[in-house]
Amino acid sequence: MLALILVGFLPMQGFAVENSEQENNVESVFLKEEELQYLQQKQQLTMCVNPDAMPVGKIEQGQHKGMSADFMRLLANKINTPMVLVPSQTWLESLEQAERRKCDILVFAMATPERKKFLDFTNDYLSFPLVIAVAYQQNFISSIEEVLDKQLGIQKGYAYAELLRLLYPAIDLVEVESLNEGLDKVSRNQLYGMIGSLPDISYAFQKQYIGELKIAGKLAQQSKLGIGTRNDEPLLVGIFNKAIAQLSEHERRDIMNDWIAIKYESATDYLMLIKVVGVLGLIFIFFLYHYWKLKKYNYRLRHLSVTDKLTNINNRLKLDQQLGDAFHLAQRYQHEFCIILIDIDHFKSINDKYGHLVGDYAITTLAQLLNNNIRTVDTLGRWGGEEFLIICPGQTTEGGRLLAEKLRNMIEQHIFDSFTHLSCSFGVAAYKKDQGVDMLLKRSDIALYKAKELGRNQVCMN
Ligand code: GH3
Ligand code: MG
Ligand code: MG
Repeated sequence: MLALILVGFLPMQGFAVENSEQENNVESVFLKEEELQYLQQKQQLTMCVNPDAMPVGKIEQGQHKGMSADFMRLLANKINTPMVLVPSQTWLESLEQAERRKCDILVFAMATPERKKFLDFTNDYLSFPLVIAVAYQQNFISSIEEVLDKQLGIQKGYAYAELLRLLYPAIDLVEVESLNEGLDKVSRNQLYGMIGSLPDISYAFQKQYIGELKIAGKLAQQSKLGIGTRNDEPLLVGIFNKAIAQLSEHERRDIMNDWIAIKYESATDYLMLIKVVGVLGLIFIFFLYHYWKLKKYNYRLRHLSVTDKLTNINNRLKLDQQLGDAFHLAQRYQHEFCIILIDIDHFKSINDKYGHLVGDYAITTLAQLLNNNIRTVDTLGRWGGEEFLIICPGQTTEGGRLLAEKLRNMIEQHIFDSFTHLSCSFGVAAYKKDQGVDMLLKRSDIALYKAKELGRNQVCMN
């Protein structure tokens, strides 16, 4: 997959088309008289090509295909001379045939000192980056010097082997018959890496090795290709240089696009995809975080609005809401409920004797005591000052009285730190069908007043 990412990102300008001169479409007239005569006498030219170097070119069932085939068809037209393919099995065989004069030209070859003994070369026409393919888990290679101690595969007869050996005498190049043989060896760990031109390797990657191999580095050298022409017929090189110059920009681009651009269309731009998903992800997380904070903030606000600051139990607002709800349920479903109003006895004297802070402490402690001793369905809140209210769903006056009695007893027994004991008076009132909330509250208040009247620290009902 990463291989495809890289392929997608290696810019198309990496595949340079050299010699792009101005358009000039005057057929054959660009050749000199002696060149025209030479071609006339030859009648046709024979060519050797690389039989296995897609997308640059290949021989398939005796047919020349790929970029080089299209170029040669155009050039044949320009010089008005048919080109005949001399078949071969390997590039090495093509080189040998060129050397033995079995073909007049060698298509898309790199000029090397060895080859110049028997071939003239046109100006470089194509240049491709040279890259190293390695197993997927290997590190990226920033310079070939990093891997000089490792075995690197290279195709037999390829010019850059000769050049790389000259540049890096220590390099450990292992010749393989074909690119696929080399890549197979890399995937089986028999070679560390395979050197090849970017289009060849990425072409191979489109068919195989996805997720197994990747392009891990680019060499400083390029694979520069021109046309080799037999040097015993020296007019040829001039003819081809001129013919190549005749190719219009449009013609060049069409061929490049046919064989290279289209191949890369299918390579999904994963890096860009990852970037886009990453940025969207960050934005999403940012909003999620703010949403979460806002939700937390809202929850806190809501909690604060119904919570008593001193005791941290429900405040009057919440008690009013709960009373309304309980009243609604009682009316609609004939549910019973009762309320218990609680007031601390002689609280003024506690404040006077011990101070306001101790008074606060008494209120807070009492709130906790009450909270810990009611049922989960009951609602406790601070009604105001040193008064509390408990709403008990499903309870009759008797149920309320029993709970109030239990609480009264518990408070009486409790030892408060600063002033040892205190007591509370309780007023219990149960819901009555024909009375509203105000009336219910009033009745509990009257019951509480009665409890005070009767000497405090007791429970009265109404
Ligand atoms: P009793 O109810 O038994 O008749 O006597 P009491 O002394 O408790 O009388 P009352 O209920 O009228 O007085 C309540 C006192 O509670 C008045 C006020 O100073 C005090 N108080 C009210 N709220 C707070 C509070 O938040 N903190 C403190 N420390 N005192 C409070
Ligand atoms: Mg009071
Ligand atoms: Mg009181």
